[in-house]
Amino acid sequence: MRVCVLGAGVVGLATAWTLSEAGCEVVVADGATTVGQGASAGNGAQLSYNFVAPFASPDTLRHLPALLWDGAAPVRLKPQFNMDFLRWNLAFLRNCTSRKVRETTAAQLALGALSRAELDIVEKAAELSFCRRVAGKLVVYRERGSFAAGRRDAEAQRGIGAEQIVLDGAECLREEPGLRIAPGLLQGGVYTQSEELGDSAAFCEGLAAKLSQRNTVSFVMGGQVTPLLREGKLVAVRANGADIAADCFVLCFGSGSARFARACGFRLPIQPMKGYSFTFRPRTPSDELRHSVTDADRKIVFAPLDRPDGQVIRAAGIADLVGEDRSIDPKRLAAVRKGTEDALDVDLDSDPIGWTGLRPATPDSRPIIGPSPVPGLLLNTGHGALGWTLACGSARLAVQLLLGQEPSVRAADFAYGR
Ligand SMILES: Cc1cc2nc3c(=O)[nH]c(=O)nc-3n(C[C@H](O)[C@H](O)[C@H](O)COP(=O)(O)OP(=O)(O)OC[C@H]3O[C@@H](n4cnc5c(N)ncnc54)[C@H](O)[C@@H]3O)c2cc1C
Repeated sequence: MRVCVLGAGVVGLATAWTLSEAGCEVVVADGATTVGQGASAGNGAQLSYNFVAPFASPDTLRHLPALLWDGAAPVRLKPQFNMDFLRWNLAFLRNCTSRKVRETTAAQLALGALSRAELDIVEKAAELSFCRRVAGKLVVYRERGSFAAGRRDAEAQRGIGAEQIVLDGAECLREEPGLRIAPGLLQGGVYTQSEELGDSAAFCEGLAAKLSQRNTVSFVMGGQVTPLLREGKLVAVRANGADIAADCFVLCFGSGSARFARACGFRLPIQPMKGYSFTFRPRTPSDELRHSVTDADRKIVFAPLDRPDGQVIRAAGIADLVGEDRSIDPKRLAAVRKGTEDALDVDLDSDPIGWTGLRPATPDSRPIIGPSPVPGLLLNTGHGALGWTLACGSARLAVQLLLGQEPSVRAADFAYGR
């Protein structure tokens, strides 16, 4: 079977690999000139298998007025007057219930477990090196109220997720000596030993290099990809002035997926959620981090990536629902820089530019995996804030659905129109 994978981000490449391993002929098509250039390039590097709670929740609903009016909040919503945006927001509000949060958390934990197992397989089979390690994750809280909520979440997740340990402020600083938050400013934290991290850009680069060595895999890079339909079926796509025909197409265009779907004649509930990151060097070896750290009240994550030439710390944050706009807002970028300065001792000149990317966000935070309304087009997109974490499990599920195999997780939880 010849399959065309639309997108060379982490989700598209994981899908291409899984298809190729299953014996398919694969073509990967992407508008960028190299792989892993979208949201997969500079993300937070967290393989966050246990922190999968959705953004839509009763708690988010309570804070919505502040999000709408506080320009400095780590989450920002710019109202847009188009039907897709309005529909997305209404669906988001419908998902802000405790029942939906429970449903989504259970579905994502299952996909997370599958993803961890699949990443083990891909890493070994493709002999990849991408700074992956079990670093453990420490979520620290500055506010009394948020610490109480974090502690409640840890209790609620006991039994369905990994074992989590609640620490007081002093214990947090002992566990993570690289933290530079004054003891009096820390209420406490929650530590999860089993959490991992890894560099998704290095994963993309390594996997693409391995795929390129196979004569059953090809890449068509650089040039917008548009659909060619015949009698309502997707039969080919146009890229770089040439037509690519295939038996099936898998849509992995991340935040560009909704536009492609519109061109095919259906709606995908995906909105771009913009975030920012820096990749800093710790100032001295004693400023290096042992673990992934999340500064919960500032909503910034720090991931220590141990590269051959020394540690770098990826600092990522901000979630702005501001449309398909890739421009850097200097004030939002500065907030991540300031948040880093307030928590760690890094050389701020080691990354003077920073990075921005668009998370492909669905209203319930779950990816959309499975058949689309258009014959010939399968969906594997909408991974929001967890695309790196969920890429390999999503690829497995998509390929199982494509080849008519028994799915490893409940496919209905991720179906289009669920
Ligand atoms: C600041 C930030 C921090 C994050 N932190 C984490 C984290 O710590 N852990 C985690 O698991 N996830 C994280 N994420 C989310 C994760 O990065 C994304 O979910 C993931 O990268 C999505 O992968 P993708 O392959 O679907 O999309 P992308 O990586 O965006 O790839 C999509 C590709 O499609 C191409 N494309 C789109 N439209 C077209 C078109 N019409 N024609 C041709 N090509 C097209 C693009 O060029 C791009 O290469 C973060 C995201 C951001 C922005």
